[in-house]
Amino acid sequence: LARARSLNPRLNAFTHLSSSEDLIAQLERSPWEGPMSGVSVGVKDMFATSDGASTSCGSRMLKDYRSPFEATVVRRLRDSGALLMGKTNMDEFGMGSANVHSYFGAVTNPAGPDGVEETLALPQEAQRVAGGSSGGSAAAVASGLCDVALASDTGGSTRLPASYCGVLGFKPSYGLLSRHGLVAYASSLDTVGLMARETELLQRAFDVSSAHDPKDPTSAPSYARERADEVHSRLRDRLAARTGAGEQPLKGVRIGVPAVRAPLSSDVFPASLLASTALLDPVRAFLSTLVSLGASLTSVRLPSAPLGLSAYYVLASAEASSNLARFDGVQFGYRAEEKVGEKEQLYAKTRTEGFGKEVRKRLLLGTFALSAEAFDNYYLQAQRVRRLIQLELDDLFRSGNPLSVSTSPTRRDDGVDFLLHPSAMSTAPLLSSYSTSDAPSASAKGTDSTAASRSAYVQDLLSLPASLAGLPALSIPAGRATDDGWPVGVTLVGQWGADGQVLEVARRIE
Ligand code: GLN
Repeated sequence: LARARSLNPRLNAFTHLSSSEDLIAQLERSPWEGPMSGVSVGVKDMFATSDGASTSCGSRMLKDYRSPFEATVVRRLRDSGALLMGKTNMDEFGMGSANVHSYFGAVTNPAGPDGVEETLALPQEAQRVAGGSSGGSAAAVASGLCDVALASDTGGSTRLPASYCGVLGFKPSYGLLSRHGLVAYASSLDTVGLMARETELLQRAFDVSSAHDPKDPTSAPSYARERADEVHSRLRDRLAARTGAGEQPLKGVRIGVPAVRAPLSSDVFPASLLASTALLDPVRAFLSTLVSLGASLTSVRLPSAPLGLSAYYVLASAEASSNLARFDGVQFGYRAEEKVGEKEQLYAKTRTEGFGKEVRKRLLLGTFALSAEAFDNYYLQAQRVRRLIQLELDDLFRSGNPLSVSTSPTRRDDGVDFLLHPSAMSTAPLLSSYSTSDAPSASAKGTDSTAASRSAYVQDLLSLPASLAGLPALSIPAGRATDDGWPVGVTLVGQWGADGQVLEVARRIE
């Protein structure tokens, strides 16, 4: 706690830190022999907690909102012995890729090449973003201020900051971890994310958090979980068999790497990424490690993946415009002060003042996509792209999708067990390359900061196929870029329900 108090003013990872008295009270109440006993957890401020802290979602709208109940995953972690260190900073309502869109200010990335204290002491113009939207969680774990952090992942918000900050970031299969008490952004894509520095701890946090929850209507029921166990049993056995000395721990595991076609173009990787050897060298080294552990690599194609970016931003904004309609100044949180006669004016004023610029942009975009004139061209089209990507991914895996309607999901003997790709298209960008203000001037003039904010959307390109298909995806630190020395991550993606196997592969690489 003392270290957190001294680092946080520069790091800005926590929007609320527990008091010593509160931690002692938590210790007295918590079980001594639970699987998470003594493990400190930072909780993204998008999860409801009943510890007296607000649940603000990084927004002025909810800055003083106190939840009357606690999110299921928070309760499950507490019940197994975890201690809550505090609430972590985030992009407002989960919308962003750099954690610069927070009412509480931007998060600083502590993972520079020379260590946490040295990085935080760098001059302002050399500071980097932590990534978003779960930047506070990633920065808190990377600087050792908590062991595990709860994050969320709608379109990469756990994996991208984890990659920028050099920690593990796991987005489980959609539906395995309860969303009850996670403030909704885009409900068909929202998943609870987990971050840690060690795989073993990440596995434990996942195990205690993953269970059916009747309070979340999209929580996977036990029959779906059993089906997944059955479908993935061969892969599980293959991984379990290789524990003896002298055995190659990944023998028989087939990993697909999205294809690169000459000259430097790819379904998934833009040329700018492929041109950066500084970034690709650690990725190549990681691939060699996999091969030396016995895995075989094959090249796979995902022709529709690039369409995922536009489809995601249509769908996520559309769902957000519906989910965030509840913040109207009447039911929750902030209410514009002025006395206004018409209730429409109260709504408009409250929402204009209560939401930041990025959120307002998404709400306008989403409302438009759902309007009668745009619905067919945008929303429906985006749904079709989503389905295409789901089917393309299903086609690649050796195990069928346990959620598929056919009674025996087909097994493709030429399929792969996992996919692997770089987590991001660059190391963490400079904080100064983002405009954090709400002033419209920069974007109106089309300056560099507009280019930076556009490139923030493109950073999500690689994360989105797994989000749209609801698949488990884990960003694993793969070393540091050979030019700037900042962390590089690679992401391992599995078939739906193969979460245990994704985590197991990561454990074997450690
Ligand atoms: N960059 C994505 C967005 O802004 C990340 C969303 C998320 O995963 N919460 O929508």
